[in-house]
Amino acid sequence: MSQIASQLKMSKLIDEKKIAARVKEMGEQITKACKNEDLIAVCVLKGSFMFYSDLIRSIDADIRSDFLGCASYGDAMKSSGEVKLTLDLTNGIEGKNVLLVEDIVDSGLTMSFLQKTLAARNPKRLMSAALLFKPEALKTNYKPDYVGFEIGNEFVVGYGLDYQNRYRNLPYIAVVNSLN
Ligand code: 5GP
Repeated sequence: MSQIASQLKMSKLIDEKKIAARVKEMGEQITKACKNEDLIAVCVLKGSFMFYSDLIRSIDADIRSDFLGCASYGDAMKSSGEVKLTLDLTNGIEGKNVLLVEDIVDSGLTMSFLQKTLAARNPKRLMSAALLFKPEALKTNYKPDYVGFEIGNEFVVGYGLDYQNRYRNLPYIAVVNSLN
């Protein structure tokens, strides 16, 4: 385990190879679903930036990128339950095919909020992809259209996901066992 990983008690959950293979598969599925139509791919900041950049490179479609900022967690390991938009899209989505790209769905509150917010702007089609999904933590009836991996109700870091804005640069996903 690398120097940074040894600072928190954590264990590897999903390695680089598995992530790359699954992201490629998801890209192929989304390519098929796009049926040669263009797509606005929305990166939900900050945690999905790494997944997003790999996923859009696996999608063979005419993609325009946009970014949304959303806050729900702060520095804590548990959701505050409150979701707010901290950065809005640059361009309108009315009549467009939109793919929301999220790092992880935990309670589902963030994605439910974003789905409702974007659906109100009348896109042609609104799809969602999440790298990780915690079914046991779900507090809404939200389920992403495309899921990379289902995981248990544990706190994970790496591959863009943080703890106190650190560990995003781990190339794999790790479960945090305990804090020092
Ligand atoms: P939800 O609204 O579904 O409860 O939470 C979504 C957001 O909470 C994610 O975008 C992510 O920022 C954060 N989150 C949820 N679970 C985890 C986790 O296990 N690790 C990290 N680093 N962030 C998480």
